Amino acid sequence: MTKSLDNYDYDLIVVGAGSGGVRAGRIASGYGARVAVVEGDRPGGTCVIRGCVPKKLLMYGSSFSADVQDARSFGWQIDTPSHDWPALIAAKDVEIKRLEGIYRSLLKTAGATLIEGWGQVTGSNKVTVGDKSYSAKKILIAVGGVPQFIDVPGMADCAISSNEVMNLTEFPKEIVIYGGGYIALEFAGIFNGLGSRTHLIYRSNLPLRGFDQDIRNHISTALMDRGIILHPETTIDQITHENSAFRTHLSDGSSLIVNQVMAATGRLPNTFNLGLADIGVNCGKRGEIIVNSMSQTNVPSIFAIGDVTDRINLTPVAIAEGHAFADSEFGDLRRHADHTNVASAVFSQPPIASVGLTEGDALQRYGELKVFESQFRAMKNSISGRSEKTFMKLIVDKASDRVIGVHMIGQDCGEIMQGIAIAVKMGATKADFDSTIGIHPTVAEELVTMRSARQDAQDG
Ligand code: NDP
Repeated sequence: MTKSLDNYDYDLIVVGAGSGGVRAGRIASGYGARVAVVEGDRPGGTCVIRGCVPKKLLMYGSSFSADVQDARSFGWQIDTPSHDWPALIAAKDVEIKRLEGIYRSLLKTAGATLIEGWGQVTGSNKVTVGDKSYSAKKILIAVGGVPQFIDVPGMADCAISSNEVMNLTEFPKEIVIYGGGYIALEFAGIFNGLGSRTHLIYRSNLPLRGFDQDIRNHISTALMDRGIILHPETTIDQITHENSAFRTHLSDGSSLIVNQVMAATGRLPNTFNLGLADIGVNCGKRGEIIVNSMSQTNVPSIFAIGDVTDRINLTPVAIAEGHAFADSEFGDLRRHADHTNVASAVFSQPPIASVGLTEGDALQRYGELKVFESQFRAMKNSISGRSEKTFMKLIVDKASDRVIGVHMIGQDCGEIMQGIAIAVKMGATKADFDSTIGIHPTVAEELVTMRSARQDAQDG
């Protein structure tokens, strides 16, 4: 290893080869920096190895059961289909291995060194991996998050998290999923679609706290219609082994005997074994690394991006933060990632997507709003007989006519919302939406044809 002019082994050491870390390493390398990326697990990180990508593949796999039901109404003669879970897991594994290979070669092609092992930050310019230490002018921590298990008797012992669920060997006939957030809803859809009797247990009255209230109401109905058994305002008091199954004791005094319990009760920044306290890096109550808008910690040579900072915990945000960091620190292009109007989707079945403010937040920030809503049965469902409704909602600032929030539940809304996010980001007004001609017949055309504001909101 040759030392750089200022005697560091590297210009940049990135701890964590997930989406954000790899992007930062590659861009910094492109600017001529000498980069090492430390990874203790498989390159690709949460998103590629045990998050977004395998989850979406499982979601696709499970969604065919609804397609089969619908297809029958369109004249297809299909016997009762059966599903081979190990085959789906094996196919998913092949794809994840391919993507891991791509991540490895991305680093190699960029000229970055992959150091395999768990890294600890042992100085303001030092990272230790096993018995070796490396110095760097700058350190970027991009180690993501880990599933959080609630401290309830039997939970840690009996429940699996979103990590283990990706490699479950046996398909559960009946499953309890604990939580009402992104992961809980996505996996409730996956297991329900594949034929598990699926219980969703959550402590609030509605799932998806923080989402627009109407979306929360609609998804709750849609999940029930799909056959998921909802247990709102319920917590798990204890889980015990019951022969080869689990008994889940609920706060309402009842209990459920199921083959699998999955905890989806949030994630924590993965700062446990990094040694940050020893070197004086400030962390918050949940262990998140505190950074400024340039992703810099209170130790000037140490930066952090992605879920470990607990800002907006989404892969594309981590990538944007990593890219902005590399541009700023190595490319002489000082900029920070823009955290406004970040669109996201929950890949529940049906899915949800949104960009901008919820009605509640918009009301607080802007005061007077116009709210446009539409609820309808998508054309496909007219023949399939599925009663599921598409719901969409535009929130408009009354004073400026700007569209400041768009929320949708229904088929393909993740795909639809990406384009809408560009319009919202550009400051599109309701008049701009109105002057856009719809594509007919689509579900999405409704977003540009909503004419009458909801009366109560119109009054401010
Ligand atoms: P979320 O924060 O979305 O949901 C956590 C759930 O756990 C909530 O329902 C919460 O309830 C519940 N919970 C938390 N603490 C307790 C407790 N002590 N007792 C009972 N229930 C509890 O976390 P996820 O793990 O689902 O996902 C983590 C993050 O990862 C997401 O917020 C998102 O940023 C990202 N993600 C994004 C995806 C996407 O883009 N499609 C997919 C998956 C994850 P309450 O609401 O009442 O607090």
